[in-house]
Amino acid sequence: LIKPGRTILASGIAKLYTQEIQEGVEHLRKSTHPNGPLLVGFLANEDPAAQMYANWTKKTAESLGVRFELRQFDDKDQLEENILVANEDNEVDGIMIYFPVFGNAQDQYLQQIVSIEKDVEGLNHLYYQNMYHNIRYLDVEHKLKSILPCTPLAVVKILEYLKLYNSLLPEGNRLYGKKCVVINRSEIVGRPLAALLANDGAIVYSVDINNIQKFTRGSGLKFAKHHVEDLGDYSESLLQQISLEADIIITGVPSETYKFPTEYVKEGAACINFSSHKNFSEDVKEKASLYVPMTGKVTISMLIRNMLRLIENRNAKQQH
Ligand code: NAD
Repeated sequence: LIKPGRTILASGIAKLYTQEIQEGVEHLRKSTHPNGPLLVGFLANEDPAAQMYANWTKKTAESLGVRFELRQFDDKDQLEENILVANEDNEVDGIMIYFPVFGNAQDQYLQQIVSIEKDVEGLNHLYYQNMYHNIRYLDVEHKLKSILPCTPLAVVKILEYLKLYNSLLPEGNRLYGKKCVVINRSEIVGRPLAALLANDGAIVYSVDINNIQKFTRGSGLKFAKHHVEDLGDYSESLLQQISLEADIIITGVPSETYKFPTEYVKEGAACINFSSHKNFSEDVKEKASLYVPMTGKVTISMLIRNMLRLIENRNAKQQH
């Protein structure tokens, strides 16, 4: 097997944020949070992947000086009132929910009842709106930073680590010239991710089961935020055509059997999979320059980082 590139593991990338988070937690322990900040996870499904992710979150949080409490419910209907209790509880600094709970639109309702000040996953509509409009702050004085949805943010951090963001370019244009394919257009990962990458200057092909769209800031990056163009129904030939030109291919198909066709990967492309199932075959290593098989550990770092930012925002508001 010829492997011209490298496989990069999320655990190594997550380490990059360890020191920054530990310093932030240390600072809080000396000031407003002597016991360390508290993150609460709500779990009301039987998904073993969610349970595993919760265990990882606890382990990572505790290693960084953050308390993590999993609140588990057999009865999904108890979730709402318990989230409302956590919203009001001054001990609780961050709240996250393991989705899917109901597996339908009720999950979006649950997402929106989490207090905006405790929403570590960055799923509140205001955060989304700011992201889609490329607005980085919550206030006019630019003291309060907006929160980004944690999985798309983790993918951005991975692309930075892989040096696909060019730091010689002005901030906000650092993906200029890069072509990306994102296979997933869910509201919690794929669509916000396509928007973030396009806002940073990339040409992004967003693929879902129905159709293929192109997200860009227009010719010469003339727009301040991304625009979306429909390219047509999903087809293998269109997917192959856009993929063979892509510098970056990102997959998030929630299926055990799905495999992105290795023959659609351009030699030297970077391949990143955020699905809990491995969407690339092993032979992708013969084509990819950089291959990241899973991203969950970076997402956990971003959750905790988001929580520290939420606490900073809360403290800054109290000083006003
Ligand atoms: P979802 O079911 O809401 O969305 C799946 C998306 O993939 C849809 O846009 C769908 O159209 C598209 N899709 C499905 N099959 C396809 C195909 N054959 N070709 C093209 N597009 C196809 O799922 P989700 O909530 O976005 O989660 C997706 C995966 O990501 C899951 O495995 C989930 O566990 C994982 N996930 C990982 C993290 C992380 O931190 N790594 C975070 C959240 C979700």
